[in-house]
Amino acid sequence: MIDKLASTPRLFVVSDFDGTLAEHSTDIYGVPVNQDSIAALSAFAKLPDTFAAALSGRHLEGLKRVFPLRAPVMLGGSHGAETEGEDSALTEDMKAFLDRVDDELNTIAADYEEAFVEQKPFHRGLHVKALSERDPQAAEEALARGLEVDPGDYFVSTGKNLVEFSATTANKGTWIETHRTTVDATAVVFLGDDVTDEDGFAVLNQPTDLGVKVGDGDTAAHLRVRDIDEVATFLQALLKARQEFLAN
Ligand SMILES: [Mg+2]
Repeated sequence: MIDKLASTPRLFVVSDFDGTLAEHSTDIYGVPVNQDSIAALSAFAKLPDTFAAALSGRHLEGLKRVFPLRAPVMLGGSHGAETEGEDSALTEDMKAFLDRVDDELNTIAADYEEAFVEQKPFHRGLHVKALSERDPQAAEEALARGLEVDPGDYFVSTGKNLVEFSATTANKGTWIETHRTTVDATAVVFLGDDVTDEDGFAVLNQPTDLGVKVGDGDTAAHLRVRDIDEVATFLQALLKARQEFLAN
């Protein structure tokens, strides 16, 4: 599997950040990052005909606070609604939607001590991870209330301890489709751990492409690894195979 990917003419390696390159943590700007994975992504991006990207649910500015690499490594934020170096704009209608949802979610969050609303350029999310650790039942109740907020013409999705409203149709799948064309990739590897990463796995043409699911849960990815240490092992093995292929 790795040798076949390594010998593709133009390889694009795309990875989710939280839960894939870094451990999940309640301290969202203090997450432990796996340096072996970071080193591998950096090395991919320096090879000829090889491209690397981090594609995160975090907004781009937030991703840049925790992900240390920059160009030529590509950065996608807000589940693919933002790309480093590209303009992205909100319409008046999108702004009004985000303001309304923000108000309604904050009303819910005010009823639970550890719940909070995250603001991203295209999203508003109700987070209950800290609440779920103290009172799982209250966390579920908060999420259920969040899901009752009307998305109108826009979108709502759920993640781990999260209900998120989106003013954009962009997702990890649309980002991968757009940017695999940009780099003219002949094979894409995408790694991710959360339900939102399934949008990314869904656009892959496996087995030429490869989805790598981190941890448990239903997935369309063809390969599963256990944790972020196994992500690093996979990336390093693919890097070594790619370097050997290019040297011949
Ligand atoms: Mg993740």
